[in-house]
Amino acid sequence: MIVKVKSGSYFGIEPFLVEVEVDISRGLPIFNIVGLGDTAILESKERIKTGMRNSGYEMFIGRITVNLTPANVKKIGTHFDLPITVGIMCGQRLFNYKDEILENYLFMGEISLNGDLRRTQGIVNGAILARELGYKGIVIPYDNRKEGSLIKGIDVVVAKNLKDVEKFLTTGEFENIEKFIEKPEEKIFVDEELDFYQVKGQEKAKRALEICAGGGHNLLMVGTPGCGKTMLAKRIMSILPSLEESEEIELTKLYSIAGKLSEKEPIITKRPFRAPHHTSSGVAIIGGGRNPTLGEISLANRGVLFLDEIVEFKKDILENLREPLEEKKISITRAGYRVEFPCEFIMISACNPCKCGMYFEEGGLCSCTPSEVAKYMRKLSGPILDRIDLKIEMTRLNEEELLGDSPREHSVDIRKRVIKAREIQKKRFKSDKLNSSMTRTDLEKYAKLDENSKIIMKNAIKNLNLSARAFDRILKVARTIADLAESKNIETEHLLEAISYRITEK
Ligand SMILES: [Zn+2]
Repeated sequence: MIVKVKSGSYFGIEPFLVEVEVDISRGLPIFNIVGLGDTAILESKERIKTGMRNSGYEMFIGRITVNLTPANVKKIGTHFDLPITVGIMCGQRLFNYKDEILENYLFMGEISLNGDLRRTQGIVNGAILARELGYKGIVIPYDNRKEGSLIKGIDVVVAKNLKDVEKFLTTGEFENIEKFIEKPEEKIFVDEELDFYQVKGQEKAKRALEICAGGGHNLLMVGTPGCGKTMLAKRIMSILPSLEESEEIELTKLYSIAGKLSEKEPIITKRPFRAPHHTSSGVAIIGGGRNPTLGEISLANRGVLFLDEIVEFKKDILENLREPLEEKKISITRAGYRVEFPCEFIMISACNPCKCGMYFEEGGLCSCTPSEVAKYMRKLSGPILDRIDLKIEMTRLNEEELLGDSPREHSVDIRKRVIKAREIQKKRFKSDKLNSSMTRTDLEKYAKLDENSKIIMKNAIKNLNLSARAFDRILKVARTIADLAESKNIETEHLLEAISYRITEK
């Protein structure tokens, strides 16, 4: 007889329904799985056989054929163990199962050799799929319960082992998932370790990071080695607003299919900070590969991508960052597939001003020739520089600054301004759009300049030799500065500050 069990899979981040057909008939003992499975699916035969035996289920000796449909789509993952096993157990009539459960629920989970269900990736996608297609629910491993609990509106049935699955299949009874969830931890916004308060001096950099957080702008820090670029970049996380629930689900979905969720971090509740090394490959940063995988730019979605020593990154990787920076998503086309991943991030980059790093320091410490300095900065391609809204120069702190005790702000106070500025933008655009994504039309509407400011802008264009793109970027930054000050109009002071982040253009 043929038993059909429903499951899900995904391609890129797009989930789709997979029907697992199990046919059991007499004949020479053979166990076949067909339908374009990857190696994990083939290995699952061993896990299923052993897992069933060790749970006390006798496996039929005869022909067992498993067919995964649609057959023409590549299916990835170990979570087909469970639907296949359910099909085999029901096909053998090992117990009296309810047909309506097979019809109305999806099954996902890996099976260990002792018959326990093991955490597997893609659960959030599976649960979303079940809801979208109007199924009653999904059966998932106990270890995936936290991600599973994110999806409301369907039954999320957790099972620790095959015996639990049998119980559900025969009775239809299950415990509400909430019972398995420990009280959610209080969301921590500011990591004590990473507070702007601890940083002495570098006021310009702190302010630039506040503007980045406020309007979603990209930043380049050019500075002497050891002036604190990395340490400052990390602290932007302490002033960004917390994630909305829909963003948590989106991120958890991404991390789930990337296999980056763990027992310790089953749900992504904090904005990500990703800092890939400059020796990383294009696939690692942008994404792609034989099976489409997420790159660092998508793991940084809704968070920050920090590129330290940006000039050292491979040229083609920097070129490939252009599309994600503009589109907030990346499409990857390879022989055989085309996928799209979201990647909306704030890019913070850093580099030295020259090869020896001392160009900005006083006292003739730099040993580079002027042509070497120019050559070093040229490594940053024009198209990338063009997409960076703010640029700042940083030097080491002098003795006075190191010993001084000038007033410093706590991250929690800076964060209040950031949140306020973002609320203003939400009202303005009636969406999640931030100032950094304003179009020309938006700028004409929301970034009007008064006569005095227009004169300042004219001079800036002449003196700094600004491109049209750079001109727009100044307006966007000025808009964010005005929003941080809760000012309806862009005042001269806002514009002047915005221009000050383009000075390195020269
Ligand atoms: Zn130098």
